[in-house]
Amino acid sequence: MTTERDVRVRFAPSPTGPLHIGGVRTALYNYLFARKHKGTMILRIEDTDQNRFVPGAEQYIKDSLKWVGIELDEGPDQGGANAPYRQSERKPMYRQYADQLLENGFAYYAFDTEEELDAMRKRLEASKMQSAYDAVSRMSMKNSLTLPADEVAERLQNGDNYVIRIKLPRKEEIRFYDIIRGWVTVNTSQMDDKVLLKGDGMPTYHLANVVDDYLMQISHVIRGEEWLPSAPLHYMLYKYLGWQDVMPQFAHLPLLLKPDGNGKLSKRDGDRLGFPVFPLQWTDPVTNEISSGYRERGYFPESVVNMLALLGWHPSDNQEVFSMDELVEAFTLEKVSKSGAKFDLNKALWFNQTYLQGKNVNEIFNSLEDQFKAKYGDFETEYGLKVVELLKEKVQFSNQILDESGYFFGMPEKYDKQVIEKKFKENTGSNLLSLSNYFIDCKCFSASEFEQEFKAFCEKNGLKTGDLLQPLRVAISGEAVGPPIFELLELFGNENVHKRIEKCLSEINLSLS
Ligand code: GLU
Repeated sequence: MTTERDVRVRFAPSPTGPLHIGGVRTALYNYLFARKHKGTMILRIEDTDQNRFVPGAEQYIKDSLKWVGIELDEGPDQGGANAPYRQSERKPMYRQYADQLLENGFAYYAFDTEEELDAMRKRLEASKMQSAYDAVSRMSMKNSLTLPADEVAERLQNGDNYVIRIKLPRKEEIRFYDIIRGWVTVNTSQMDDKVLLKGDGMPTYHLANVVDDYLMQISHVIRGEEWLPSAPLHYMLYKYLGWQDVMPQFAHLPLLLKPDGNGKLSKRDGDRLGFPVFPLQWTDPVTNEISSGYRERGYFPESVVNMLALLGWHPSDNQEVFSMDELVEAFTLEKVSKSGAKFDLNKALWFNQTYLQGKNVNEIFNSLEDQFKAKYGDFETEYGLKVVELLKEKVQFSNQILDESGYFFGMPEKYDKQVIEKKFKENTGSNLLSLSNYFIDCKCFSASEFEQEFKAFCEKNGLKTGDLLQPLRVAISGEAVGPPIFELLELFGNENVHKRIEKCLSEINLSLS
């Protein structure tokens, strides 16, 4: 199915709350596809359901897209030839299409009250039938198909409450192509006559979505799998409105699943399972409940993008680390899988660690400098850079560098208990003291000198390096693991190392006595 059409895609969220990370992935795939084909990326805010409108949600969506580096070509803030990009501001545009459907016999007025609809559902359920307003049940309801024409006219004249529903055929096979799923076949007997427009002139999602995709010349509808059941209805709307020739191609993305694969990743999962499900932290405007965000947890936007790109899409080789430009280059909808993608926390952490390793020390230090200074007071930038360089290798988030940096700015306050119990033997203390005196005598300065003299000292005294190495690390840092030990010695200098060993020994004696 190749056409010469310009690629125009849209991300069309409803501002009903914070944007789920799955929504960010949908936006990302649209963006990659648009950039790859030198097309246009549009943001359209689908806010026709005023009951579900949440203040702050639209801004949150825009901030999230900006944070991950998704640039918009047209949208509420960018403007564009198809403005406005907020459906509530487009309200007057939809009515004519509903009227066109009415005139051509593809839609009808329905006047049923809530109670009547309820009674219908109960009746159908009781007789074990599909409880929908459809080609069969509509014939026993109050609508322009069953009421006399003059009554319909009178009701409309009187301003009676009504909705406009699509009039689907009773049994007709609908077949459309989805780039990810292939041919999809649905029979209209499984569908209901969805409401297209309400009496107040507000369209429902279905009408507004199709009309806007048409007016905005959308070439590809790339959206989550949860919209697949709506696609046959949208197909019928294109057909009834005479737009079949310019119907966009569909691509329904697989769901994002919980790590164990059991069900969709939901709002509650993140904070329960230890990872955010929202890009940015969100405070609910009504309950003040806070949901954590990737940004605030310390994830880099590049790593979130990389992780999301691979949740559902597979490159043709085994490459895992992709910049945005590389993703644009490699991305194809044909390589998006049909089956749900399991969220993998370890992978998310691995990506962040990988991006952290790739950052230069200055950049990391600059992002932490204020927090460092607030915690430890003033110090030489060069020293700070060295601390970052040594600690960055082992952590997944840059803020862990700050958490783990205490012993660089003062003596350790506690010492790893396990190492002390296991590795500190009778002579360990005196050996450590002799070692540090030896370092002073040898005027050890660089990491390589410390290393060389450490080996020489052990050899002279008949000690195994392995027996002294971990006690040395614990004595100077308090920790069982950490950056390369000889680099630490170089940074602290032999006098300071000596003091650290003395302090450690006196504290251990205290705690042991
Ligand atoms: N407004 C829908 C949503 O909130 C958009 C679905 C679509 O892309 O067609 O996700």
